[in-house]
Amino acid sequence: MSDRYYPNYCDGQKISGESHFSVINPATEQLVGYAPTSTDTEIEQAIASAKTAQIDWAARPDQERKDLLMAVAEKLQGESAALAKLITEEQGKPLCPLGSPFEMQAAIGWTQVPASLDIAPEIVFEDETRKDVLHYQALGVVAAIAPWNWPLMIAIWQIIPALRMGNAVVIKPSEYTPLATLELVRLLNEILPAGLVNSVTGAGDVGQKLISHPDIDKVMFTGSESTGVKIMQHCAPNVTRVTLELGGNDPAIILPDANPEAIAEGLFWGSFLNMGQTCACIKRLYVPESLMDEACDALVKLANQMPMGNGLDEGIMLGPIQNKMQYDKVMSLIADAKQAGGTVLCGGESPSGPGYFVPVTLIRDLPDTARLVTEEQFGTALPILSYPDDDLEQAIHRANNSPAGLGASVWGTDPDQTESVAARLNAGTVWINQHGAIHPMVPFGGAKGSGFGLEFGVEGLKAVSQPKIISRNKA
Ligand code: NAD
Repeated sequence: MSDRYYPNYCDGQKISGESHFSVINPATEQLVGYAPTSTDTEIEQAIASAKTAQIDWAARPDQERKDLLMAVAEKLQGESAALAKLITEEQGKPLCPLGSPFEMQAAIGWTQVPASLDIAPEIVFEDETRKDVLHYQALGVVAAIAPWNWPLMIAIWQIIPALRMGNAVVIKPSEYTPLATLELVRLLNEILPAGLVNSVTGAGDVGQKLISHPDIDKVMFTGSESTGVKIMQHCAPNVTRVTLELGGNDPAIILPDANPEAIAEGLFWGSFLNMGQTCACIKRLYVPESLMDEACDALVKLANQMPMGNGLDEGIMLGPIQNKMQYDKVMSLIADAKQAGGTVLCGGESPSGPGYFVPVTLIRDLPDTARLVTEEQFGTALPILSYPDDDLEQAIHRANNSPAGLGASVWGTDPDQTESVAARLNAGTVWINQHGAIHPMVPFGGAKGSGFGLEFGVEGLKAVSQPKIISRNKA
C-alpha cells in the first residue's frame, strides 16, 4: 500500500481495511490520502479491544498513567511539524502561527494539563456515626466522535481526560479530516498499552454503530446540534452517558465606551480564527450606532490585509472553508443576506479556481431575521448589527435571542458595566474584551441548544468518571 493509505488501530495492530474513502485538500481539491471505511466487525473488534485493555489500565497507579500521558505530550512535541503540515493539507487552516501550529500547541497543552491533574476523594459528610467520601473512578470504554474544524485538538480533548481517569477509547474522527487523527492514534499506540486507544473511520453510520453498542459507557460528542439530537437518541436505549459540545451562534456586544480601533484585531480573530469554523467564534456582532462606521472601517481594513490562499504557502493567514458542503452553506447565507438588504462591506464573491475559498465577508444593515443572523454560519462571513447607544437592553435581548448558547462576549472599558452585561448574557462562557479564549484548566461547555456537560480542568475529568460514594458506619 502507498503511504497515502492511513490505517486504523485496533488492539495495537494496524487495520488497513477492505475499502477506503478519499480525503481532499480543500485549498486545491486534490487528494491528500485515504482512510479505511470501518466494517461492522471492525467496530465490534475495536470496542472489544478497548474493553479488555481498560481493565489493566484502570488498575494501574495514577502516577503511571500520568507519566505515560506526559510521554505522549513529548511525542506530540517531537512530531508537531509533521502533524501541523498534515492538518493544513486535510483541514485547510494555514501553517501560520494562528493556524495548524496553534492547533498542535493546544493539543500538547491539553495533554499536559489533564496528565498533571488529580481528583482527590472528597469527604462530603462526616459526624460521629458515619463518614461519606466521594470518589471518581473510571467509567469503562469512551466513544469519541469528533468534527472537522479542529480535528486533532478536539480528538485530544476527548481522548486524554478519558485515559487519565482510567478509561479506554474508541475514536471516530470526521470523515472530512480523519488523517491527522489516525496519525495521532498511531503515535499513541507507540507509547500506550495495546488496545487502549482504537480508531474506526467512516461517515455518520460508523459513528452510530459505535455509540449504539452496549459496551460503550460514555460518548464524548463534538459536532452540530442536529447530529447531537441523534446522538442522544442512539444513547438512550443503553442509558449511555453523553457529553454534547454542539454548535454556537455567539454574539459579541461592543459597548458605547469602547475604542473600535483598539479592539478591532481581537474582534477580527474572535470572528475568523480557523476561517470562522470554530464553535466559539463571534457569529453576530452588535455595535452602538455611534461606533458603527468606525468599527466597520477597522474590520474591513484588517480583512483587506489578511492574505488568503493555500495554507502551505508562506505568509498565508486565512485558508479555505474545509469542505464543499460547508462552502455551499456559507455562500447561500451570503446570497440570502444580500437579498435581505444587507450592505456588503467586503468580500461577498468567491474567486474562480480550485479550492473552497470565501473571502472575509462583512455585512451590515441586515434585519435580525436574516439567515446569516439566525443560523450558525461557520465560515468567513459576519453580520455587523447596530443598536441605539441609549438602549443597551435591546442589544442584550437580541444577543440572547438565539437557541444556541455556547459563548458570548462584551467589549468596553468600564469594568462594572462589562461585568453586569456579562452576567446577563446566557451562554456557557462569557468573555470580557476577548472571545474564544479557552484554557485547559477552565471548564468549557454550552448553555441551551449548544449542549451540556463540561470539558477541561477537573470538571472535564469528572465528565469521564463514575462518581461513587463510599459510606462508612462509624458506630
Ligand atoms: P457533524 O455533526 O456533522 O459531525 C460530527 C461527527 O459526528 C462526525 O464525525 C460525523 O461523522 C459524526 N456523525 C454524524 N452523524 C452521526 C450519527 N448519527 N451517529 C454518530 N456519529 C455521527 O458536525 P461537523 O460539521 O463535523 O462539525 C461542525 C459543528 O461542530 C459546528 O456546529 C460546530 O459549532 C460544532 N463544534 C462544537 C464545538 C464545541 O466544543 N461546542 C467544537 C467544535 C465544533
